[in-house]
Amino acid sequence: MSKLANIDWNNLGFSYIKTDFRYISTWKNGSWDDGKLVTDNKLTISEGSTALHYGQQCFEGMKAYRTKTGDIQLFRPYENAKRMNLSAHYLMMPEIPEEKFVDAVKQVVRANEAYVPPYDSGATLYIRPLLIGIGDNICPCPAPEYLFCVFCMPVGPYFKDGMAPVNFTVSDFDRAAPYGTGGLKVGGNYAASLYPYHLAKKSGFGDCIYLDPTTHTKIEEVGTANFFGITKNDEFVTPKSPSILPSITKYSLLYLAKEVLHLKTAERDVLIDNLDEFKEAGACGTAAIITPIGGIQYKGKLHVFHSETEVGPITTKLYNTLCGIQFGDIEAPDGWIVKV
Ligand SMILES: *Cc1c(COP(=O)(O)O)cnc(C)c1O
Repeated sequence: MSKLANIDWNNLGFSYIKTDFRYISTWKNGSWDDGKLVTDNKLTISEGSTALHYGQQCFEGMKAYRTKTGDIQLFRPYENAKRMNLSAHYLMMPEIPEEKFVDAVKQVVRANEAYVPPYDSGATLYIRPLLIGIGDNICPCPAPEYLFCVFCMPVGPYFKDGMAPVNFTVSDFDRAAPYGTGGLKVGGNYAASLYPYHLAKKSGFGDCIYLDPTTHTKIEEVGTANFFGITKNDEFVTPKSPSILPSITKYSLLYLAKEVLHLKTAERDVLIDNLDEFKEAGACGTAAIITPIGGIQYKGKLHVFHSETEVGPITTKLYNTLCGIQFGDIEAPDGWIVKV
């Protein structure tokens, strides 16, 4: 294991830290260049870039994990590559060959190896791939050129004091249209969620839950994480809708709930008026890992699931199984782990 950077690994938050190298590749005249690692963290782009005016951009979020033996590994990176290409396709941006995507991520992690937190810190290296439309342009049309960048930074465990439940409130607003870009990882969805997030925080909640934009009766997801619940008959349930971002963590949990915990599983409607069917609930995503939901505030009433202070037994088991796989302590299903 190479020398580690001089960082207080046990007190990391989720904020920007400039690491030594980032990857950058340009698409011009119909093809990608080879891409390279650079040290400068500033991008110089045309004032006419479509990413700045028309939101022609998408991104991904993933992590590199340090194992007990000091190795570094990625969790299902080809799923991130596939999802970025789905976003790129809808936003009329060039796709990135999956091998180029994963190779770029590996290059960045290797070049910044000193910033991959030690195994026992619970911290990880957060990786942010980014695809943006650039070049001289003013019309609301696809850009003439594109940048694909990957940068990274060490981040702390989401649960600073162990895994503790968080309360959410239900938003009156929508983050995405019924058949719009909700299922894609694009910046526009986040622009639409900044104000509802601000309102939720101001009222003392961790974040807000969005309901389906057509009827406002069904849970969609949290602004940055998918929702799941454990029913009173031990079924792992997560909402199904075209405007939910398909979380890789969520699909991993669906698999683990079924194959490892031997629970029944379902992707189906979750009615906000029927929260009583769940004994546990949580939010899941790369950054959130699993955030247990203490309660959900809806129409002036806080519906509490397992407890506002303690994590339910099934949520705990799911969390330990997922993290065990990500940090290399539990054998992973085929193809989930890619060594750096
Ligand atoms: C990225 C993201 C998630 C989580 O997806 P993962 O693949 O599990 O990291 C959930 N919801 C939204 C809106 C997201 O952008």
